[in-house]
Amino acid sequence: MSIQVRNLSKQFGTFSALRDVSLEVRSGELLALLGPSGSGKTTLLRVIAGLEAADTGQVLFQGEDATDQHVRERQVGFVFQHYALFRNMTIFENVAFGLRVRPRKFRPTEAEIRSRVHELLKLVQLDWLADRYPHQLSGGQRQRIALARALAVEPKVLLLDEPFGALDAKVRKELRSWLRRLHDEMHITSVFVTHDQEEALEVADRVVVMNEGRIEQIGTPDEVYERPASPFVYEFLGK
Ligand code: ADP
Repeated sequence: MSIQVRNLSKQFGTFSALRDVSLEVRSGELLALLGPSGSGKTTLLRVIAGLEAADTGQVLFQGEDATDQHVRERQVGFVFQHYALFRNMTIFENVAFGLRVRPRKFRPTEAEIRSRVHELLKLVQLDWLADRYPHQLSGGQRQRIALARALAVEPKVLLLDEPFGALDAKVRKELRSWLRRLHDEMHITSVFVTHDQEEALEVADRVVVMNEGRIEQIGTPDEVYERPASPFVYEFLGK
């Protein structure tokens, strides 16, 4: 599903978090929002998600105006750094959660839930931990479960906000390739926020570099790295 972002602006008091941001996320692409802290990445993601309303501008999903759509109507899955798993639920129940809270009409049967959850747990190679609780897992395993949970409801769009921010470098690297693999296997459109340029350049199809609520550059990792479009991008990439 493609996403069009048109002329979004958002103020918090006198602070402009987004200044006339326009962007197209292509169907099936994995797009990274990269930039320093406070550059507007999370705000942009939250507006795309429907968790936050912009002051002006539009968000379209597959050409249809979603600006006034509730988050639940948008068919998006989330993975957030602090969107923790439910501590008192098993891993199985955590992944099943999104399916169980669906309106009755759309709720799968118990057998369907079991089969879907086990399929997803196999996909992240953690089926053997189905009956454990989150505290019994490592940080990296927990974020793999968070990915599986987000994918359980078969979203068209996956939105990730600093999903691996709390993990150490080695595990981050491993999670990156998990994200890439799951994104490709599920044929979804993904947007993920990171301030880590290596992460963005390694995993994304295209990278959006943000600064002070504006887009400085959009391009493939090679384009952004080889041909920074502004002194800011050049500096930010540490060139
Ligand atoms: P980034 O994700 O690039 O770090 P954010 O989009 O989170 O940037 O935030 C941009 C700025 O907007 C932040 O510096 C913050 O001060 C401000 N901001 C974000 N959310 C709120 C809010 N709910 N209320 C007030 N200010 C906010």
